Amino acid sequence: MDSRPVALVTGSSRGIGRAIAVAFGRSGYDVVVNYCHSEDAAAAVAAEVRAAGSQAVVVGADISKPADRESLLSKAQAAFGRLDVLVNNAGITSPGRKDLLAATESSWDLVFDTNLKAPFFLAQGAANAMRQLIQQEVIQQGTIINISSISAYAVSTNRADYCMAKAAMEMMTWLFADRLAEERIRVFEICPGIIASDMTDPVKAVYDRRIADGLTPMRRWGTPQDVAKVAVTLVSDTFAFSTGDRFNVDGGFHIRRL
Ligand code: NAP
Repeated sequence: MDSRPVALVTGSSRGIGRAIAVAFGRSGYDVVVNYCHSEDAAAAVAAEVRAAGSQAVVVGADISKPADRESLLSKAQAAFGRLDVLVNNAGITSPGRKDLLAATESSWDLVFDTNLKAPFFLAQGAANAMRQLIQQEVIQQGTIINISSISAYAVSTNRADYCMAKAAMEMMTWLFADRLAEERIRVFEICPGIIASDMTDPVKAVYDRRIADGLTPMRRWGTPQDVAKVAVTLVSDTFAFSTGDRFNVDGGFHIRRL
């Protein structure tokens, strides 16, 4: 049985997930790279993890589909025989970014299925697997990290479904953190601000301007690496007596200002 810790990062073919997968690979974790559409990009991420001296497997799975979630978790465990970390990163923005007075049920369903239902049931599945692995003394502890957003508390009226799904992720983090605290599984939420990725590329010009005008106390875009550094630190012993916490990675955006 492999003795190195294993991290499963959903949606790690691009953006924040990619940076998190590579950071875990560089920190001595074997990595399960998950993609939905971007197979070649996922293969490139796995190559980067291997170049860092860790092992990687690539698993295609649409996390919005229950059968895919199940096969993702079972392939992840079959690959390395253990699971130490789940990072619930995969997510989509609100399709078409429609004003909430024109928002559609199909957008709601897709966003909630992908951004809330999938992380919930992946956390449930991973937690049950980790409990068993802890009981069998294959691993000492587990960690689940949920990637939410400043949209959990900052309204965008053209992305109501996205904001509400991210808001619910905070409660989801508390629920799992409480339930799993005595199971030696810690649960955290990372709350990224405005991060340069494919997701924000269509609105880049708008945010270039708003950031320059002082929207965020630190007047720069966040990078996927800013988020990844926090993720690898959270699984370390530094936060051994913490669970259920939200970590802001937002250049100070969450500070109320007059
Ligand atoms: P991104 O650049 O659009 O990348 C999204 C990733 O998620 C891709 O790897 C994509 O895989 C994957 N994905 C999407 N739907 C999936 C599905 N159904 N099943 C499996 N994988 C799926 O987005 P990002 O900016 O890195 O965002 C990552 C996370 O951070 C999201 O949860 C997002 O809400 C959150 N976030 C982002 C920002 C920001 O400013 N960028 C801010 C706060 C929070 P494929 O390409 O293979 O389909």
